[in-house]
Amino acid sequence: MIDAPMRETMMSASVTTTYDYVIVGGGVSGQCLAYFLAKELPAASILLIDRDTDPDYNISFWADADIPFQSILSHRWTQIAVRYGDDQRVCPLHNYRLHAFWRADFDSHLHHELTKLPNICFQEANVKSLTDCGDHVEIHTKLGLYKAAWAFDSRLNIAALRQHDPNLMLMQGLAWEIQTTTPSFDPTTATLFDFLVETPEFDFMYVLPYTSTYALVNCAFVTPYDTNIDKTTCEAVLRDYITDRLGIQHYTVAKACYGRIPLTSRPFARHDNSRIIPIGVRGGMVKASTSYAFTRILNDSQSIAHALATTGNPYYRDQRAWYYRWADKYTANIFSRLPKLAQKLMFSMFDPTTGDLSLRFLDERNSLRENQTLFQHIPRPVLTEFLLHLVFPRLR
Ligand SMILES: Cc1cc2nc3c(=O)[nH]c(=O)nc-3n(C[C@H](O)[C@H](O)[C@H](O)COP(=O)(O)OP(=O)(O)OC[C@H]3O[C@@H](n4cnc5c(N)ncnc54)[C@H](O)[C@@H]3O)c2cc1C
Repeated sequence: MIDAPMRETMMSASVTTTYDYVIVGGGVSGQCLAYFLAKELPAASILLIDRDTDPDYNISFWADADIPFQSILSHRWTQIAVRYGDDQRVCPLHNYRLHAFWRADFDSHLHHELTKLPNICFQEANVKSLTDCGDHVEIHTKLGLYKAAWAFDSRLNIAALRQHDPNLMLMQGLAWEIQTTTPSFDPTTATLFDFLVETPEFDFMYVLPYTSTYALVNCAFVTPYDTNIDKTTCEAVLRDYITDRLGIQHYTVAKACYGRIPLTSRPFARHDNSRIIPIGVRGGMVKASTSYAFTRILNDSQSIAHALATTGNPYYRDQRAWYYRWADKYTANIFSRLPKLAQKLMFSMFDPTTGDLSLRFLDERNSLRENQTLFQHIPRPVLTEFLLHLVFPRLR
């Protein structure tokens, strides 16, 4: 928190507004962080700056504990299926649950919660730049200058990320919520991955059935940055999938959303000596290994708030084992060079007995021993080929 003399100096220097913490970008990560900061540090002043409203899209995630904001969760699944060509595996979940919500519901719920907290202010403005001044940060907007002891930056600019990461990959896709005329889905089982085996990329579909006649069907294409998969292409893929793979002839599209997510292995780094901390996608919360970012964003926000409350500093120790941190560097590369091998590997990890263990692996929480148990389910030639490529990245 800014101490009183410093706050006075900053206030008298010019017509600026000074806060303990400024959060740039009021999207998922910005709002989560504001929420946890306000809870952990009720005496701190927090400013959340955002420039406009965001598009609505569906966010699904898995968790093995209760999460905050329960009321926005529209459904939960206790069983997941994975498919690869004609093979299908159904995995009951014991500790984990798969959840989904719509971004617009999240925004209105969080906005309602945040406006109840007296130490949060909101400002609509386009942030042009942030300057680290050593003992404080200056946040420049058209409306004027804001100062803070710490600033959290979630501005997302895919082109800027690409400049920073030449291997940047994209996940591009379209989700439809469809209503069918006859019972077509098993609402107890969500299809987490249905891998497309005939495309050149690491692509998959997923199906979240809310009832026997209503489901979210999504296609996701993991591609190099330069490959453009437009909405029309996605619509054609979804139509074929629903008819040919799901066997549904009559349905209506109730809701749709198309989007692109950058999957980077080189996010904007956090430097211990910087007062500007990248968060959200900008801070590396979306990765090639799982584009699923919501739980990572939640954990990161809670950890930052807790570190500030206990140490006065927002940096906390990355608790992940070395092999997960190491894999971060290479996964995007493997996905772009060997997409089909990566699909086979992912598929074979899921087995009726390993649903929870596989999700824990994707959450980067398994021990080496647990991963050994998991990898026993992967056919030896697939695992050997994968490990060889991981260790010798130039292998053809
Ligand atoms: C279509 C789509 C589907 C996704 N599905 C899933 C999913 O199923 N599961 C999952 O876990 N994750 C999913 N994600 C990934 C991730 O959870 C979301 O991208 C999430 O919104 C990331 O949060 P964020 O805060 O980093 O970015 P955002 O939520 O996009 O927030 C960034 C904010 O910054 C603001 N901003 C940008 N520039 C400025 C500026 N100059 N000045 C002021 N404000 C600015 C924007 O208005 C925006 O509100 C999905 C993403 C997309 C795009």
